[in-house]
Amino acid sequence: MFYYYQLRNHHYKTEALPLLLCPLCLHAGSVSMSVMQKYYWLAGPLAPSSRYAIAWCEHCGNYIPKVKWSDEMDLFYNHLKKGTSTPPRLYLGLWVMPLLTAAFVGVLLLAINVSNSRSQSRAAAVTDAVMHPQPGTIFQVVTTTDSNTPLYTYFKVDHAAGDSLYLLPCNVQRTDAMDWDDVPTAAGSYIQPPFVVSLPDTAGGSSDMFTWGSQGHKYAIVEGVWTEGKLLKKY
Ligand SMILES: [Zn+2]
Repeated sequence: MFYYYQLRNHHYKTEALPLLLCPLCLHAGSVSMSVMQKYYWLAGPLAPSSRYAIAWCEHCGNYIPKVKWSDEMDLFYNHLKKGTSTPPRLYLGLWVMPLLTAAFVGVLLLAINVSNSRSQSRAAAVTDAVMHPQPGTIFQVVTTTDSNTPLYTYFKVDHAAGDSLYLLPCNVQRTDAMDWDDVPTAAGSYIQPPFVVSLPDTAGGSSDMFTWGSQGHKYAIVEGVWTEGKLLKKY
């Protein structure tokens, strides 16, 4: 997991060092020093990083780079640093971040759960449409050709009578599932007369399969249902 954090600076103190010479312009009494600390920030302080100091000269107007510091400046810096202690708020992230991470994982698990139960309820709605077919409903089905290769097509419900279902085959038949979700809805796309299938036997556990023909050797598996202007897919 990645977080995008910033580095921010905490300012402890600034002090004039009147006894020191500026190593750049050699003017006395014009050097000041600030003690700072970097810390990681993401919507709040996460964790402190290293402490450091910046020094400058009021006389020549230059920042004094660390490499130019005199031994006295190093001594003063150590002295100033000793008088500072990291504020507790800079450690906030050390216990907030694990909580945020836990919350993030929790939300993710919840989303997976919701999406699972949505797909379960979609599958249930498809099963319901199969078990209680309404005239005009279009089933998105996979069936097989005589040479036993998959065929992606559609059956439209003409009517149901008893445990028989009268379906109109579609003149659109695809050999792969690409564009399969573009359900043909024009009446002219379905071929009269209807053929008859048995309503699926829920006891057999195949509520999404139509069978027909002698010894039921022809079959079609329902993958989706077009009803009330929208396609409902099992998965
Ligand atoms: Zn100077």
